[in-house]
Amino acid sequence: MCGIVGYIGKRDSVPLIVEGLRRLEYRGYDSAGVAVLAGDRVFIAKKAGKVADLQAMLDTGPVSGTLGIGHTRWATHGEPTDVNAHPHTDCNGTIVVIHNGVIENFRALKTTLMRDGHTFTSETDTEVVAHLIEEIRKEVSDLGEAVRLALLQLEGTYGLVVMSAENPEMFVAARKGSPLVIGYGEGENIVASDASAIVEHTRTVTYLEDGQMAIVRRDGVSIRTLDDAEIPKAVEHISFDVEQIEKGGFDHFMLKEISEQPETIRNAMRGRLLVERGEVVLGGLQPVRDKLFDAQRIILIGCGTSWHAGLVGEYMLEQIAKIPTEVEYASEFRYRNPLLGPRDVVFLISQSGETADTLAALREAKKRGATVLGIVNVVGSTIARESEAGVYIHAGPEIGVASTKAFTSQLTVLSLITLLLARGRGMAAQDAVVLTRELDAIPAKVKSILENAARIREIAREFKDADHFLYLGRGANFPVALEGALKLKEISYIHAEGYPAAEMKHGPIALIDERMPVVFIAPKDAIYDKVVSNIQEVKARKGRIIAIANEDDQDIESMAEFVIRVPRTYGFFGPILNVVPLQLLSYFIAVARGTNVDQPRNLAKSVTVE
Ligand code: GLU
Repeated sequence: MCGIVGYIGKRDSVPLIVEGLRRLEYRGYDSAGVAVLAGDRVFIAKKAGKVADLQAMLDTGPVSGTLGIGHTRWATHGEPTDVNAHPHTDCNGTIVVIHNGVIENFRALKTTLMRDGHTFTSETDTEVVAHLIEEIRKEVSDLGEAVRLALLQLEGTYGLVVMSAENPEMFVAARKGSPLVIGYGEGENIVASDASAIVEHTRTVTYLEDGQMAIVRRDGVSIRTLDDAEIPKAVEHISFDVEQIEKGGFDHFMLKEISEQPETIRNAMRGRLLVERGEVVLGGLQPVRDKLFDAQRIILIGCGTSWHAGLVGEYMLEQIAKIPTEVEYASEFRYRNPLLGPRDVVFLISQSGETADTLAALREAKKRGATVLGIVNVVGSTIARESEAGVYIHAGPEIGVASTKAFTSQLTVLSLITLLLARGRGMAAQDAVVLTRELDAIPAKVKSILENAARIREIAREFKDADHFLYLGRGANFPVALEGALKLKEISYIHAEGYPAAEMKHGPIALIDERMPVVFIAPKDAIYDKVVSNIQEVKARKGRIIAIANEDDQDIESMAEFVIRVPRTYGFFGPILNVVPLQLLSYFIAVARGTNVDQPRNLAKSVTVE
């Protein structure tokens, strides 16, 4: 996730690009940079921080030119520093690249290029693209063709723009997995990650498709495939306003982020899951591999939604990897004088990587000699830096205060860690393959749940005036019940409780009457019959039952007033699917009640106070 802008025309590109970056800043905001062709050389300004910091830098040494490119970064490889900020260049600063996405095979490419004498300055995956084009250009002088040949060697995802000091008349844009839009003007053309950076200049656009590249000149744009076939432009007229475009046409960031989950879950696995070998590769944990495999206990620490992810992790790690696991609230852990030793491995789970309590827990665990590892979204955040090693969840910026996509990405990463440990502790490859295939199928299954959103909206309308909600689940779906209740509380302000389904008898059952909605997470797993008994207990007391059930569950209709269907999966991956309808249910209830979904009262996205 990041923002890209490229301009070629008759106006000064710099203010136009910086304004475009400002509009794209919601996509990524840890560093920003521009490159402008000034005379026969490329001038680059880049800086860690916000677009405003870049602007301040440009104010001190103005530069101008009618061909330029700009980037606002959301780091995936290398911390958000000045050096790692885009644009990146080849050895002599001629070829300049900005990139959104991840080049999965950058290590192999970098090794070869270094052997061929290329000098790298950053830790990013992106920089290999500039050097690769430089290498190809030794044989192929045409910039478009050299870029095309380079793209054929790249694995992973990209939206990228390439310019060269030797080509004042053009730049090249290409897309695979990360969006790019081309806007057509009079004697000028613009490329950006989304139309919000374009609409004030033109509303006539083409959305580049995966596997396409564009040669952009002042007087025209030609689009071709990576097989070098020219294709006709699909020109569209956009009528959205800027705010709608930033939200990708969704009414709220939360809904956008819920809808992104098939891709974000895939991104969490990208390059890490070797499906047919039943293996997991987590480069970030490589330095602590021995300590991890030798651990006598794992402790998962987080707050709020991240703590719920930890609870699911506990079920997975104990049952699949067979390692004793505990889950702790960060705020409690830090003050309770925990007993820790050198064979304890502590994972700190935090979307922002800045959560004050989780950071304090990290420092406490470190002081007591445990191995401290991060499961974090924001690259280069404090928890990421202070951990010994860790795994980024790569969910992209999460803007909605109520966490959704970060949760499912945390669960995906915990699944990967579980599989890694299970294999390291003796699980046979043929047993692991069953699980890696199942995990690989999760994104498509999430997509099918999202296609059912209209049904969930109807159910939400039915319950929008409820004063209380109860969420019940068992096993690894108990934390899903907690998370469903938390989402509802956070954005609709309805009082909700999550409970282990069987625990209901020990208190909450007293609350049940004909006005109490009860959400059951009831997949057809080993304890399905037990959950059915709990459903009957609620039904007998006239509670209104909403069931999350598998597609092939015929019996549930007779027990529940409303049924939301989810595909089947292996038990421990179920929470990744089952939470999605609960996110949507709380979202639609909040919308129906007219609350501020993206910025609920009293809450903050990154909780940096105790
Ligand atoms: N992978 C690149 C980096 O870490 C691009 C990240 C982005 O999309 O902003 O620099």
